[in-house]
Amino acid sequence: MSDRPIYLDYNATTPVAGAVFDRMRPWFTEDFANPASTHRLGQVALAAVQEARAAVAGALSVPANSVVFTSGATEASNLAIRGVTGPVVVAATEHKAVLDTAKAREFAVASVDRRGRLDLDQLDRVARGAALISIMLANNETGVVHDLATVVEIGRRHGCLVHTDATQAFGKIKLDLQELGVDLASVSAHKIYGPKGIGALYVRRGVTLDSVMTGGGHERGFRAGTLNVPGIVGFGVAAERLQPAVEAVRSRALLDRFVSRLGSRESFVLHSDHRTGLPNTLSLRFPGADAEAVIANAPEICISAGSACTAAIPEPSHVLLAMGVPSDEAFESLRISVGAPTTDEEVDQAALLLARSVRRGREPNAGGVCEGAAW
Ligand code: PLP
Repeated sequence: MSDRPIYLDYNATTPVAGAVFDRMRPWFTEDFANPASTHRLGQVALAAVQEARAAVAGALSVPANSVVFTSGATEASNLAIRGVTGPVVVAATEHKAVLDTAKAREFAVASVDRRGRLDLDQLDRVARGAALISIMLANNETGVVHDLATVVEIGRRHGCLVHTDATQAFGKIKLDLQELGVDLASVSAHKIYGPKGIGALYVRRGVTLDSVMTGGGHERGFRAGTLNVPGIVGFGVAAERLQPAVEAVRSRALLDRFVSRLGSRESFVLHSDHRTGLPNTLSLRFPGADAEAVIANAPEICISAGSACTAAIPEPSHVLLAMGVPSDEAFESLRISVGAPTTDEEVDQAALLLARSVRRGREPNAGGVCEGAAW
């Protein structure tokens, strides 16, 4: 084992794949022209952007001209939610990119059960009169996958648009946005072994949005600003390389192995199930052990706590609270997320280290440090 910590936080972000980085490199230094320029080099850059657009669209099963490049999923969701006039409905377990954007306007919340699943009857009731329903496809903390097909049916019945934050589902489970029937969807490159700072909003043909950013009319007027060509190229290559079915089998086997190794050493409670949800995500709780202390006592592994820090004050995860998990239990919760580079050896070692740290964390006065969260 090297001195490098074992990284089990792939839902927070992924490394840029070597093949992605190699393809991005010339677009920084040699082929640096602005794709809005009409000269020859500008047109070379434009062709690369259009190739990447087709690759991202292909991975989402949508037409290329329905993909609008943004700086990431946060901006994509802002564009979707702020671009619509009228009330918005969001799930209580949405990422803050959606939740806080919706809170800035008239909004209603769709609740979830103890397993994090949507209450579809309640959603149907609160969706009356809405302009937009925004429900994530898969949850970043628990891996719970929502029944988007039924959400789309509800949206159609109420005559409103449906947006999905598909950031965590992209690359991990089959994703066919056209078949799903959503009107808008957000995705991000850095969750699929592409670079940070680039993402996209899928906008179904015929859907209009007010622009959030004014300027040069780029991206068919949806998103002004000079295009991030290296980022876009990297996003395209990362999208092209996705093999969700293969990765799902591998991830599920790794987490099965992790659960069995950990279970033979320590007791824990699972908040969600990687067999029915995202195959790479495990949300679990060690009763009696503070999660921040567990993380602090296991510097050899990189995992996330079920809490977020605001001004250095830890707050329990809003996702777990929405599921009815009491706040003291949320403070005992951790997220493990595996990725393409994860090995059997790493999960075996992580189970051992985590069990040891949990034992220490259960001792009185085992303190933790609060330094922020990245979901
Ligand atoms: N939505 C979900 C579900 C996420 O997990 C994340 C990443 O943390 C985001 C949105 C934000 O994505 P980005 O970092 O591309 O803005």
